Amino acid sequence: MLTMRIFLYIINFSASEVRIFSMKIDIAALKKEPGRPLFYEFTVNVSEMELDEEIKLLSPLTVQLAVIYQDGKLLINGKLNAEIELACSRCLKIYAEDFSEKFEDEIAVGEETELNLVWLVREIFYTALPLKPLCNAACRGLCETCGADLNQGSCGCPTEKTDPRWAVLGQLLK
Ligand SMILES: [Zn+2]
Ligand SMILES: [Zn+2]
Repeated sequence: MLTMRIFLYIINFSASEVRIFSMKIDIAALKKEPGRPLFYEFTVNVSEMELDEEIKLLSPLTVQLAVIYQDGKLLINGKLNAEIELACSRCLKIYAEDFSEKFEDEIAVGEETELNLVWLVREIFYTALPLKPLCNAACRGLCETCGADLNQGSCGCPTEKTDPRWAVLGQLLK
């Protein structure tokens, strides 16, 4: 099998200091042999990903792609892998998770001879991130009254919540 290993390059725009990495697919080569896949593997460093601040990569992101040209389209099978750092949505603990995502996509192509898939990889990465990350499926979260981490044991706060309407009535009798 033909594997093309592409090295990323970085362009530094002196004005904005924006870094761009590239994931170029050789459309011309794919068109020469429709139906025959080309394989790509990219490794993207943390700084090159330009992620939103709340997302932290603990390892480089690896992107593996198998691409076929057929009937005016690129058929793409891909896999992303990285170790990422997330904050648990229940207890707020920072934890590491092995992120892995497989995807398939189709892109119509015209006369262009190459295509940079950075935008696609970025979009797949972001949409695959968990909306409500959990350090553990059984995470008990924080006490709503005192903020204690309930995974460490009970904090002793009463577990029943007072209905605010009764609280108002209680005030009247003081
Ligand atoms: Zn948690
Ligand atoms: Zn408590």
